[in-house]
Amino acid sequence: MATPAEVFPPQLGTDVDESVQPISARPAVDADGVWAQQRWISRTLYWGIHAACVLVFVVGVSTGDLVLLAATFWARLFGITGGYHRYFSHKTYKTSRVFQFVLAWLGASSVQKGPLWWAANHRLHHRKSDQPGDPHSPNDGFWYSHTGWIFDGRWDVTRVDLIEDFNQYPELRWLNRWHIVPPVVLALLCLWIGGWSGGVWGFLVSTTLLWHSTYTINSLAHRMGRRRYPTHDDSRNSLLLALLTWGEGWHNNHHFFQGSTRQGFFWWEIDITYYVLRSLQAVGLVWDMREPPQALINDPKRRIQAAS
Ligand SMILES: [Zn+2]
Ligand SMILES: [Zn+2]
Repeated sequence: MATPAEVFPPQLGTDVDESVQPISARPAVDADGVWAQQRWISRTLYWGIHAACVLVFVVGVSTGDLVLLAATFWARLFGITGGYHRYFSHKTYKTSRVFQFVLAWLGASSVQKGPLWWAANHRLHHRKSDQPGDPHSPNDGFWYSHTGWIFDGRWDVTRVDLIEDFNQYPELRWLNRWHIVPPVVLALLCLWIGGWSGGVWGFLVSTTLLWHSTYTINSLAHRMGRRRYPTHDDSRNSLLLALLTWGEGWHNNHHFFQGSTRQGFFWWEIDITYYVLRSLQAVGLVWDMREPPQALINDPKRRIQAAS
C-alpha cells in the first residue's frame, strides 16, 4: 500500500535548516512584511479591532449590516481555507497567475498577514505537528496555540526557504510585505457601502469573528473531536469545527493526507470549501484538484477505529 509520501512528492520543505531566528537577530528580507519588526503595531491593531467591536452598541444594526457581515466573513474565510491553506500551503490544485493573486488578496484581507508568511508557517506546522518547533501546538498551551503564537517573535519572519515555490512571484512578495493594504481597502469599502455601521459590522466584527473561527483549527482541532487516522500529532475530526470553518475541521483527515483538496474524505463530511472549489473548477478558474486515494483512506489497517 502506498503511503501519502509515495503517492505525492515528499512533503514540502523537509530538507531545510530547522533553526528559527527571531526577527531581531537577523536582517529583514523583502518578504518579511513591513510590520514584522514593529510588533507593537500589529498588537495594537489586533486588540484595537477586538475592543472596537463594542461600537455595535453605538451604531446599531440593520439587515444590510448583517448581509455585509456574512459576505465579508464567508468570502474571507474562503480566502484562508481555499486560498492560504489548500492552495498556497499545500498546492492541492492549480490555477492561473491572476486568480492566484486574487486568492492571495482575499486571504490577506483577513488580517492574518501575508500569503508567504502564512503558508510557510503552516508548512512548518505540518513538519513539526505537536512537536518542538511547531509554531502553534496546544501542547504549548491552548491560548498560545489559539492566538499567543502570533506575537511570539520566533514566528515573525517569513521562512522564505519553506515557500520558495511562491516566493518567485514578485506580486506575492509585494503583497506579503504590504499585507496591510487589502484590509485597509476592505475597511474603506465597508464604510462606503454601509456607512459607520457597515464599517463596524462588515469589518471590525467580521474580522474578529473570522480570527477566532479560523484559529480554532490551531487550538481546538488538535483537542476536540475524534481521531480516525493514527497521525503523529493530536489532530482530530470535528463536524462542529468543519461547519464553522468550511471543512477545515476534518483536521485529522488533513494531517493524514495533506495533498488532498477535499478535507471531508467522505460524502457525509461536509466541506464547503471543497464545494466552492468544485464550482470554481466547473467554470474553469481552478483545475487539477487532487483527490485522496480511496484505497488509502479506506484501508482499515490505517485507521484507529474501523467504523468511523
Ligand atoms: Zn494544512
Ligand atoms: Zn494541525
